[in-house]
Amino acid sequence: GSRRTYKVQIISYFETHKLVVASDITELYQLAQIRRDFIANASHELRTPLTVLKGYLELMSDMPGERNPQWDLPLEHMTTQAVRMQAIIEDLLTLSTMEADSINAESEPVDVPEILKQLAIEARQLGSDEHKIVFEIDTHLWLKGYAEPLKSVFMNLVANAVRYSPEGGEIKARWYQDKEGVHFAVSDQGLGIAQEHIPRLTERFYRVDKDRSRGTGGTGLGLAIVKHVLEKHQAHLHIDSLLGKGSTFRCDFPAKFALKAK
Ligand code: ADP
Repeated sequence: GSRRTYKVQIISYFETHKLVVASDITELYQLAQIRRDFIANASHELRTPLTVLKGYLELMSDMPGERNPQWDLPLEHMTTQAVRMQAIIEDLLTLSTMEADSINAESEPVDVPEILKQLAIEARQLGSDEHKIVFEIDTHLWLKGYAEPLKSVFMNLVANAVRYSPEGGEIKARWYQDKEGVHFAVSDQGLGIAQEHIPRLTERFYRVDKDRSRGTGGTGLGLAIVKHVLEKHQAHLHIDSLLGKGSTFRCDFPAKFALKAK
């Protein structure tokens, strides 16, 4: 059809006047749509062949007696890489579903304390035992939102804190409400991030240290997912960091989404 998309800006000038500018962004909008579809289709198409490869790798790994031991290490590497590739594909799919606005379902009361309790258990398995992970949770604080996407936000932030801080470092995750709203904050005593990188961290595949990040099992998409999910909750990601000292990643949710459980 001939539906067109406009971007409308209202600019104030001379304090008394307002200028309304409408720009036709139909082509841009369509291009973005094509790009989204392409990423979604490509990720989807890659899933099946990868599943086949992984299946055979598992089969071979399960039959150590049937092969020359010199294949042990290559098999292990291939399995690691296949698992990584799968994680990247799943994250790309998650991102494109979110971009397609398909979380149009009604938001619902989310038992965040329960999600975090679960996460606290998973986090200990995920990090080496060398990290001290502390959770401070307001157990009466629920949120109006989307449970699964929120869970991946919390998981991504805690996983990063583990990934980018040294053994022995303390990681603190807090879920609380104050005058400004509802917050989930994760602090670590890790590498920290130089100021100039901070605005770009939520871009897909943006990494401060490419080589280091690849080795840590991240997909490079974690913070991009975090940003998208937060947008769906009218929330913002606030990043505070000091190089060599550590970082705090804080999600700020509007107070109007807070729900108080008994
Ligand atoms: P990755 O899979 O590479 O961790 P993310 O999107 O989760 O991808 O993060 C993007 C980049 O931001 C990381 O590669 C890392 O350089 C930086 N980063 C994220 N979290 C932290 C943190 N807690 N401390 C230091 N750097 C971080």
